[in-house]
Amino acid sequence: MRNEDLEKKELFTIFGNPVAHSKSPLMHNYAFKHLGYPGCYGRTLLEEGTRLRDTFFALGLKGANITVPHKEAAFEACDVLDDFARKVGAVNTVVRKEEKLYGYNTDAPGFLKAIEPFDAKKVLFLGAGGTARATAVILRDAGYEVTVLNRSEGRLKRFAQEGFVTAVYDSFYPEGAYDLIVNMTSAGLKDDALPAPQALLEAVIPDAKACVDVIYGKKTPFLRFAEAQGKPTADGLEMLLQQGVIAFLHFTDNRFEHQKVEKIMRKALLL
Ligand code: NDP
Repeated sequence: MRNEDLEKKELFTIFGNPVAHSKSPLMHNYAFKHLGYPGCYGRTLLEEGTRLRDTFFALGLKGANITVPHKEAAFEACDVLDDFARKVGAVNTVVRKEEKLYGYNTDAPGFLKAIEPFDAKKVLFLGAGGTARATAVILRDAGYEVTVLNRSEGRLKRFAQEGFVTAVYDSFYPEGAYDLIVNMTSAGLKDDALPAPQALLEAVIPDAKACVDVIYGKKTPFLRFAEAQGKPTADGLEMLLQQGVIAFLHFTDNRFEHQKVEKIMRKALLL
């Protein structure tokens, strides 16, 4: 693209490390093109989260998404936070308005939208990282009962302080049936690991309506295990799509309809 064409466009990027795998540029550029919006979305490898704010302004950006491991750094970099981002301490969408940076978390509402079709009430999380934290809060606010399990104690403390039922895998006893079992860990992302001991999965999956993974782009051992038990499954692609739609609406000052953006971005993910 010529420099003068770029000057006429609003610029966006995704910051992360690594960032080469991200589908966000594809989704956003496809939507810009098909909605006739003058935007251009790239990707930026960022090693130091503390450099996020300076880099954002140096690149002349209008907005950005932030992925692993900089969501907490993005939270720190913003001047204004929406209520939910402030509550969960993690930002994955930043928009510049005048010279201020506004921060949002669209991962959690994206996940909430993605699980709507499962008609669940009781949800069991395997994993207690940053993504689990934001989604547990939004699910509870929306009326779901969320139980959070993790392989180690450390990250569970904050959930317990916030009133969630928590347990490490070794000390967990199911309290009735859980409608939805969710892999919120990164187990299976780069390895062939199940997120929890097989015996635990065998205790909860048979009574579940469905199993969901937040990892996308591959069939994880967790999803293969759930399928072998005859359960409906979904990977993290729908969450990715939905968080992207909500981010796009922030980037473009809500001038487009959610459904229209969703339809276009869904097509982009099939490319
Ligand atoms: P964090 O690093 O904050 O947390 C990782 C969690 O996974 C911890 O609970 C950790 O347990 C657990 N864990 C890691 N490896 C294993 C393992 N081998 N076995 C069991 N538990 C393990 O990660 P995030 O919360 O940021 O991300 C979690 C996942 O969500 C990632 O796979 C990421 O790609 C995905 N994601 C998907 C999105 C989408 O749009 N689909 C959006 C955002 C994230 P411990 O505390 O014991 O270390």
